[in-house]
Amino acid sequence: MSIQLTKSAAAAVRRGHPWVYREGAIRPPSGLTSGAVVELVDETKAPLGRALWDASSPIAARVFTTSPHARLDEAFIASRVEAALALRDAWFQGDPETTAYRLMNGEGDRAPGLVIDRYGSVAVVRLDGDFLRPWIDRLKKPLAAALARRGVDSIGIRASAEEAAASPGKKLRPLFGREPPDRVIARESGLAMEVDLAEGQKTGAFLDQRENRARVRELARGRARVLNLFSYAGGFSIAAAAGGAGRVTSVDVAAAAHATAQRTFRANDVDPARHAFVAADVFAFLEQAKSRGDRFDLIISDPPSFAPSERAKSRALAAYRRLHAAAALVLEGGGVLCAASCSSHISAEDFLSTLDDAALGRSDLRLLAMHGQPKDHPTLPVWFEGRYLKFAVLG
Ligand code: SAH
Repeated sequence: MSIQLTKSAAAAVRRGHPWVYREGAIRPPSGLTSGAVVELVDETKAPLGRALWDASSPIAARVFTTSPHARLDEAFIASRVEAALALRDAWFQGDPETTAYRLMNGEGDRAPGLVIDRYGSVAVVRLDGDFLRPWIDRLKKPLAAALARRGVDSIGIRASAEEAAASPGKKLRPLFGREPPDRVIARESGLAMEVDLAEGQKTGAFLDQRENRARVRELARGRARVLNLFSYAGGFSIAAAAGGAGRVTSVDVAAAAHATAQRTFRANDVDPARHAFVAADVFAFLEQAKSRGDRFDLIISDPPSFAPSERAKSRALAAYRRLHAAAALVLEGGGVLCAASCSSHISAEDFLSTLDDAALGRSDLRLLAMHGQPKDHPTLPVWFEGRYLKFAVLG
């Protein structure tokens, strides 16, 4: 099935962009189902590459190859998986200190929609969109073979939104091999980390913050009072405690996440009783901390995405501004503020505008560094949508 693209959509594909929006496809045939292989051509009918059709998303086609000769089949997708795994081998394979990392980052590894995270001997597959669902039965064998060569013997897959709505409960389903456990202890930069595979967010953990957690570990040296806002399973909290922080206060609405965080503390021989875990709304907590006169020497803020869409952008920027201003009020002079955003709709410049002197209401902070996601979460130069993570360090 051949689909003609508009001039601008064709130009984007030539530059390596993996997405064709619905308006970029000229009169696509009706009745194309999600997962169908389509051949993309430009306005002169010159071939552009092969893609998988998505019948429901605003992104109509995901480009897998711009080579006119490649066949887009399970062997082709498996070859992309093998290439992604081979890239990680040199970084992580055989390193006992980091056993949790991303093996495959979808578009960034030139296999749109296919995300694979590793937690020791367990791998978790997440499909972004529905177009790969019809493929997964054919893909699971070659995928399992490539993973088995690296010591993974259990593969789970995160339930789709539809599956989760139909049967709530566990978000993880067995896909191949040994049934995945509900929880697993993995290691990250030398620290143990308990991961809730069955009920956790994303594939269980936010692996994109690995290097930033290591940075926080360094920044925490000699800091008496650390505050970790939106702490989830306590990744930044244990990093700060291991780095030498006196007392770490973790704040999250989810009490279950605190229970996981406390088990992670114990797994690292850190007594959670010497630290604080507060189940509260961050904004309410900051308000109370200010009125109590509490101050912190290092604050980490890593909220969920405030801007799920382009339309939500201005409201999201207002929320970041409110959050950062409230955090600045409890940051001790000479303290360090680490502020993160995981929304692709907020550019680095826009995000920094919520951290400038006017936004923070103080003029003693410098921007020490601006980080993003680690190299196991690659993007493509033209795929700016994939570079969502911003991590600003001010001090
Ligand atoms: N920093 C974490 C990831 C944070 S995910 C890590 O490195 O692993 C975002 C977390 O924010 C979730 O655990 C969610 O429960 C929490 N959350 C969302 N809104 C909140 C609010 N208003 N107050 C407190 N916690 C909130």
